[in-house]
Parts: sequence; C-alpha cells; structure tokens
Amino acid sequence: MVKAFIVLGLSFSLSTSVIAQNKDSIIVQQIVIEATSNSHLKKLGHELIDVIGPRLTGTPQLQQAHDWAIKTYNNWGITARNEKWGEWRGWERGVTHVDLVYPRVRTLEGMQLAWSPSTNGKTVTGETIIIPDVSDSIAFKQWLPNVKGKFVLVSMMQTTGRPDYNWQEFATAESFDKMKKEREALTDAWRKRLKKTGLSDSALHQALENAGALGIVQNLWSNGFGVDKIFGAKTRKVPTVDLSVEDYGLLYRMTEAGDKPRISVFADSKDKGAVPTYNTMAEIKGSEKPGEYVMLSAHFDSWDGASGATDNGTGTIVMMEAMRILKKIYPNPKRTILAGHWSSEEQGLNGSRAFVEDHPEIVANLQALFNQDNGTGRVVNIGGQGFLHSYQYISKWLSKVPENIRSQIQTNFPGTPGAGGSDFASFVAVGAPGFSLSSNSWLYGSYTWHTNRDTYDKIVWDDVQSNAILVAILVYMACEEPNLIPREKSVMPVNPRTGEQTKWPEQRKAKRRGGFWD
Ligand SMILES: [Zn+2]
Repeated sequence: MVKAFIVLGLSFSLSTSVIAQNKDSIIVQQIVIEATSNSHLKKLGHELIDVIGPRLTGTPQLQQAHDWAIKTYNNWGITARNEKWGEWRGWERGVTHVDLVYPRVRTLEGMQLAWSPSTNGKTVTGETIIIPDVSDSIAFKQWLPNVKGKFVLVSMMQTTGRPDYNWQEFATAESFDKMKKEREALTDAWRKRLKKTGLSDSALHQALENAGALGIVQNLWSNGFGVDKIFGAKTRKVPTVDLSVEDYGLLYRMTEAGDKPRISVFADSKDKGAVPTYNTMAEIKGSEKPGEYVMLSAHFDSWDGASGATDNGTGTIVMMEAMRILKKIYPNPKRTILAGHWSSEEQGLNGSRAFVEDHPEIVANLQALFNQDNGTGRVVNIGGQGFLHSYQYISKWLSKVPENIRSQIQTNFPGTPGAGGSDFASFVAVGAPGFSLSSNSWLYGSYTWHTNRDTYDKIVWDDVQSNAILVAILVYMACEEPNLIPREKSVMPVNPRTGEQTKWPEQRKAKRRGGFWD
C-alpha cells in the first residue's frame, strides 16, 4: 500500500517531502490501527506479570522471563538473543507465613525480604523484643544478649496507617497538623535510637542474628493504604520479614505494653549460588543504514514484593508491543531497531551500563533511545536530556503523533541529563541521546514502586496502549530522519544552592557481580 502510494505520488510529480509526509501519515495510521484493533498487551501482561511473576535479579523467574521474551519475539519473526554480562547471587523465593500465636491468634500480613535466609524448613516461634533506647553503643552491647531466642522489631511504629491525602480530606486542620508534628518527633527519636547503637543497618541486623535472634521484623511503610516497600535482607543466617503497617503496629504496641506477644514464622527460600545475568536484545535489521541504531529500552528485572507490574512490567510490554507493531507495519526500517530489556536495573542500572561498555560501536551510532520506567501512566513529559538541539528533532517526531496522545505531553528543551533514575542515563552519561518517556503518576511512588502491591490490577490499559503507539511512532520517525542527530550538549544549569555550575553526569561502571555477602 505504501509503495503503491509512492508510485502514484511520483506519477503526479509530487515533491519528495510531500511524498515522505504522506508515507509518514500512512505508517502512523497503520500503527494506530494495529495497536488498537489487534493489541497483544493484555496477553503479554498476563504471561509476564501473572504467570512468570516478579523478576528479581538472580532468580529463576527472571531467567524464565528472558526465555519467554526470546520465544515471543521469535513468534513474531523478530530475532532476539540473551546477552550475558555478569553474575549474581541466585535465590528463589518460597512461602512466607507469619502468625501471631499469643495472646491471641491472627495471621499477619508479612513476607520475607529478597535474598532472605530461610527458617530451614521449620516453623520458628518466639517472643518479640524492640530495639531499646539505650544511652550509647556500650549500653547497646550490654543489652544485646536479650535478643536470644526472640524476634527483634527494628522499625519505628507509624503514627497512622492512613496516607496524608486521607488526612487532608477528612481531618481538621489542627489534628492533621498535630499528627504530622508527632510523626516528625517520633521519626527523629527513632533515628537517634538507632544511631546510639553505633551500628549501620546491616551491622545492626548482623549483630542481632549473631547474638541469637530468631529473625528480624521490620516495617517499611510506603505511605499508602496497605503498601510496604520490599527490598533486600541484610541478615545472613536468620530471616528478615516485613510486616504491614497494621500488623507491625499491633506487635509493637503489644510488646511495649508487656503483653509478651509470640509469633510463628515459616520462611522458605533457596540459595542457588552464582547464576549468570543477561540482557535480552531484540533486533529488526536496518535496510539502508544497518550500522545505525534506534533503541527501545525498559528494564526487565523487578523487586519481588509483588509481581513488578508497573516497575517495570508495563514499560517492558510497551516496548515489546511497539516492536511487534513495527515488525508488522515497518518491517524494513532504514536504521536497525534494537530493543534492550535490561536486568539488574534495580541494583544500579547494571545491565544497561554493561551494554554501553560492551557495545561502543552501537552507542557511537545510536540515533536515539527511548526508555520508559515510571509506571503504568500515559507519557506526559519528554525532555531533551540536556542535548542542545533536541527540540528540533523531538518536536518534529512528536508532530506525527496523533493529537489525543500528543496533547498529553509536555516537552522541556533542552532539559537536563537527568538524575540517573533509569537506564536512559547509562547512555546519556556517555553523550549518547537517550530519552526518558515520563509517565503521569497514578500514585506510583507510594502505591506500586517497589511495593507489595505492584500487581496486574494496577495497570491502566488505555495509557499503556497509548504509550506503545507513541513509542512505535517515535522509533519510526527516528529511523526515517535523514541524518544522525547532533549530540552537542547544552550549557549545564547553575545549582541555586551552591551557585556552582552542575556537571554532565559521569559514566559509572556496571557492577558485574553482586548480591553476595562479600
Ligand atoms: Zn523501574
């Protein structure tokens, strides 16, 4: 159809730019039709997020996801490969079960942290004890033997389990204010209490297990109803479990009141030694300039408190769906299209940094990279990432995006390189044009980012679909752009606090081996 149109165009002696514009609008139209009438997004989401589940680096589930991505791409006629870049401590999450067994029975909402040691197939029961407010590190050492045979509560008890927006809506201004002051004072006091132990968090947790504690119990509330952040354990022998703000508070109040509560913990997990880490790369070869690249980018790994639906399942399926659509509508791109599904982003952009180190020839000939990694929301912000001429081409490419999608997006040129919160930063650091497609919030920061509630039901499918269309069109336009875009950097802004000019971020080395105790 495109060819026929061009031939028709020539016969009417249209100028080449008019022909190109008509070709663009036909391709754009076909992208939109394919994305809306034949979407694979829900199927991809179900297979990746529901069935495979969380994709913590070093787990068999991440490996399963890499293999699934290859198979899925191959089914679409797209070549894909797993590229090894390092190794990580292998670990497999099993069941966690925590019950209050005295003075009454209640099953508690909790789970072991990532890489947590197990209870070795047993259910372990014991009393709870709270980190005390001692005068100094010597007094703490003297107190330490008290933890033997007990579970230690190491977090402060929250003043409220209601998020601030709920207080804002229903509290009187006075009581909201009072609550915030109380919380501030408690937070400050808890920080001082921990400091007086003389130990860092990891050193404290290890001192507790070495003194015979049965396990560590914590609460890392994420300031929303029912949400906690679930990161990695710092213990090496006994489990570390997170309890919900409700259940942690219950245990804390009982312990403090002298009710001598007892809990039973069953935490199952397997250590798997060193396992290889990979990035999955999918490729549609360029027809005119195969040595120049346009990249789609989204990290593939997740934390494992839930199923990594919005961090970054949605970014992942957006890129896969855009690749599927491009292969169908634009199978012979001018430049090579490459999708990067990075692992170990969550431990410091390791997969993408390794790629930048391992493929200087691709980075040097990169036209543009588009990364998405802040939730399920439609893209509302695109910046120039500090590249001086970004407004010229990004605005041009965006002009082809349908009005209903484009009108949602604010642009910011030349912008700044960005703080390095996701994989585009690995490219920007070496002066290569990587762009962050920034989503609207849907309360991502509190409700799904690294939480125990980052699940399929939080996905907003209309927004995800609109992002797949946006990515496919931007990639198409970047492929068709006659020349490689200029990489000149803009003058960096002055930091208003220090009065000094900020610097372009430096390239940081990929951590090629991690998760081990050493
Ligand atoms: Zn992420």
